[in-house]
Amino acid sequence: MLADQYPQVEVNLEKLRENTREIVSRCAAKGVEVAGVIKGCNGIPEVALAMAQEGCSIIASSRLEQLEGLREKGLKKQLMLIRIPMISEAQRVVSLTDISLNSEEKVLEALNLAAQESKKIHKVILMADLGDLREGFWDKDRLMACGKWIEEDLENLQLIGIATNLCCYGSVLATKEKMEELVALAERLEATIGRKIQYVGGGATTTLPLVFNGTLPPRINLLRIGEAIIMARDLEDSYGHNMSFMNQDVFTLKGEIIEVKHKPSYPVGELGRDAFAEAPVFEDIGIRRKALVALGRVDHGGHEGIYPLDKNIRVLGSSSDHTILDITDCEKDYQVGDIVDFNLFYGSLVYSTASRNVHIKLTRA
Ligand SMILES: *Cc1c(COP(=O)(O)O)cnc(C)c1O
Repeated sequence: MLADQYPQVEVNLEKLRENTREIVSRCAAKGVEVAGVIKGCNGIPEVALAMAQEGCSIIASSRLEQLEGLREKGLKKQLMLIRIPMISEAQRVVSLTDISLNSEEKVLEALNLAAQESKKIHKVILMADLGDLREGFWDKDRLMACGKWIEEDLENLQLIGIATNLCCYGSVLATKEKMEELVALAERLEATIGRKIQYVGGGATTTLPLVFNGTLPPRINLLRIGEAIIMARDLEDSYGHNMSFMNQDVFTLKGEIIEVKHKPSYPVGELGRDAFAEAPVFEDIGIRRKALVALGRVDHGGHEGIYPLDKNIRVLGSSSDHTILDITDCEKDYQVGDIVDFNLFYGSLVYSTASRNVHIKLTRA
């Protein structure tokens, strides 16, 4: 067997499966389908397959590149693009996905044309902006008119639902009131087109508390869930929900120590700016034992987003390709060549799984 390569992100697929089952079954109990969102780990195909096998009815991403190739790997569930399509990618959207989220007539026109050319029916969900101010119709009369237009004039598009996105730009919470507002819009859309729509999509991970506490309106029947399945941290870290029933260590970032030396804690010489043009602050606590890890901002996006499993390690800083640790207080006698394990925040997972320098290792136990 070849030696492991570092830096590495280790993915525990069994823990991911358990997380998927947990979220899918809690949602199913409330009549809610789960679209598993894979963008947080750069769309690792095995993650998508595991989510699909454990009950996600749709696999979704903001990037076509992450959905491309999943069919060939045996994924049979519907694929959904959850960022508003670029007009320039309309043909690929139609050929690679089944469903897309939309908010612009010009884009819908391009999708309809592309679907016509490839003799397909592409499904669309209209996005309503309920105040978070990222994507979606702000003018709700225009949303209704757009729905009617798709229904009557765009023959190769099928309008299957309405949805919203919250808590991304404007940090607007997914409350029962916001969900009721969405349901009212769904009913208005149904009245406008004269038939029922299949999906009312109530958002993402941040809507889950309403599922857990039973206050999600019954008409909401689709959630797009990424973070709660792959990390299961946000609801706990930001909102104080107890997520201990989930695995919070599906992903582990591993780096190799390339230098261990005793060095001062305070830089020696006249101080200017660091590699990222910042002026860091140092505390003089004397000579410390330090380890240099072959892992840097290029891989984790910033050392604030990673934390060592060994609680006695202090992360001091990082530059593009190095992370500097204080290991003075560690019980373990770290040596050059040893591997240090880190847990990650969502942002660091996004960077590390997208970095060409980081090796992905899948484990199944
Ligand atoms: C990223 C994203 C999601 C998933 O969000 P999580 O917080 O990871 O559950 C859902 N919908 C849209 C439109 C997104 O961009």
